[in-house]
Amino acid sequence: VQTTVGVIGLGSMGLGMAQTLATKGFRTLGFDLSADRRKLAEDAGVLPQSTIADLVAASAFLVFSLPTAQDVRSVVEGHLDLLKGKTGQRVIIIDTSTSEPDVSRDLAKRLEALGHGFLDAPVSGGPAGAASGKLTMMIGGSEEDLALARPVIEAMAAKALHVGPSGAGNVAKLVNNLLAAAHMITTSEGLKLALAAGIDPEAALRVVNAASGKSMISEVHFPTWVMSDRFDSGFSMGLMRKDVRLAKKLADSTGAQLPLAEQVASLWAGSTELADSDDFTRMGAFKAKN
Ligand code: NAD
Repeated sequence: VQTTVGVIGLGSMGLGMAQTLATKGFRTLGFDLSADRRKLAEDAGVLPQSTIADLVAASAFLVFSLPTAQDVRSVVEGHLDLLKGKTGQRVIIIDTSTSEPDVSRDLAKRLEALGHGFLDAPVSGGPAGAASGKLTMMIGGSEEDLALARPVIEAMAAKALHVGPSGAGNVAKLVNNLLAAAHMITTSEGLKLALAAGIDPEAALRVVNAASGKSMISEVHFPTWVMSDRFDSGFSMGLMRKDVRLAKKLADSTGAQLPLAEQVASLWAGSTELADSDDFTRMGAFKAKN
């Protein structure tokens, strides 16, 4: 019997994940608030649904790819009664949104009380990773739910790392994105220095990427989206600002002293010349004309 997976949120990431699941033989249902996104999903082999309720009623697994923790919370809370009625089958929500650890823990607890599972399973790898099924996924939740969800997870992710109990996946994701946000700024500053001191920034970047200063941002994002002036990675300023803000909020809640993170948070929040809808790689622009 074909397993039915419902994907909620068919944006830059969700559309690629839904397409990957459909290609790999899952009966894949999809919902997005945007009719345009539902149409794109349909063209990619996904069965579009006109309401989330229709999708939830028919699915054994739910994959979320929503902008914020508030969106995740409101979708779950809006369908608790429906989920309560789905007895005899443990539904597993695989939440790939970059969300908040406390929200993941709370939702996991409430779903557990109804006999269902919730994994926080945020991802890295961008729209290309989603469309090729090669994401890195960092997972918080129980071993049992992870075992049930593994076939769906492995269809979407080349690397699936179980970090710990509920919330742990989002903690790891916020750590990762804090570093990526910092690397975007430090790499840009390094190339500004190269330029100011009279060497070719392309040559400086080649050196960094063959030496100890490199990161995925310098190896992938700079050559592909910054040096080329393309600035179209498919990840928005608004979403990265959210992630940096959440990392700072997490640090504050734990009392961890992170002086550089403070500076990174204020630079991402204060870059008012860039709109939330701009691509996040614009933060790496280092030439005066950019
Ligand atoms: P996006 O803005 O492109 O897509 C989000 C989609 O969700 C939109 O199509 C929107 O219409 C839809 N949506 C919003 N509320 C909804 C609701 N209540 N019901 C149904 N659909 C709803 O965002 P994205 O770039 O795909 O990111 C999704 C999540 O993945 C975010 O949490 C982001 O931080 C994270 N993420 C993004 C990337 C990336 O490179 N884009 C990488 C890793 C993680």
